[in-house]
Amino acid sequence: MISLFLVLFFIVDARRDSSTELIFGGVEGGTIKSDYVPPAQVVEDEADELGGLKWPDIDITEHQYSIVNDNNLLSAVYYPDVEVIDANYVTYYGTKFDAETMPYLIAMLDAVREAGFSIYVNSGYRSYSYQEQIFNGTASSIAESMGITGKEAYMKPEYQEAVEKARHITNYPGASEHQLGLAVDLVDRYHGTLKYDNMNQEMFAWLDAHCFEYGFIKRYPQKKLLLTGWDESWHYRYVGVEAATFIMKNDLCYEQFYAHYDPEFEY
Ligand SMILES: [Zn+2]
Repeated sequence: MISLFLVLFFIVDARRDSSTELIFGGVEGGTIKSDYVPPAQVVEDEADELGGLKWPDIDITEHQYSIVNDNNLLSAVYYPDVEVIDANYVTYYGTKFDAETMPYLIAMLDAVREAGFSIYVNSGYRSYSYQEQIFNGTASSIAESMGITGKEAYMKPEYQEAVEKARHITNYPGASEHQLGLAVDLVDRYHGTLKYDNMNQEMFAWLDAHCFEYGFIKRYPQKKLLLTGWDESWHYRYVGVEAATFIMKNDLCYEQFYAHYDPEFEY
């Protein structure tokens, strides 16, 4: 479906420079009359009229655009190419981030510091198994608070209730963007904690106004809670400058952006 969509896009794009008719090598027997408007373009025109938006021409299947959430899980053996972030920028030594994208992260952090703020990466890449550990920790403390205790508490049927509750507090294994290597949780001081209201709001205001210049978006803003399911105003995610600029300037969350490129995507 995605490739068909892109092919139609290509056709429409090429059609603009043509006078009468076009033949495409990529589409078998594809002869398109100049007055023919493919269905995808009709939808595009409507969207353009509705929002006046000029959506970037991107390939949504590229790594940097991966969508990860409760309905789109990464596999346990998904390992991106990550490297350790310079110790000067992190709260915990050894925190990792996507190797190719590292310069964008460092440039953004440097810019925040040059603007006069203190900033550190509290959390970066997390493996599936590490996310699993965090999740199991959340589930077992919920279970404990519900009185489900004992050596094999997790074997009890009511433990499942604790697991369901945990899904609203901690990302399920495979459902965390941190496994992509493209997400960071940012804090305003060394060993700062993720309590948004206690952090420097001017620093976050600066980030929200400039993060897209470095290819990052604020991934879970409070006002999009009903669409993303999460309120994590400290969490920023790399998607590239083009997409980030579009998303931040048009006040979209990533699910809204992604759905435009994948008609089968639901959120
Ligand atoms: Zn995060």
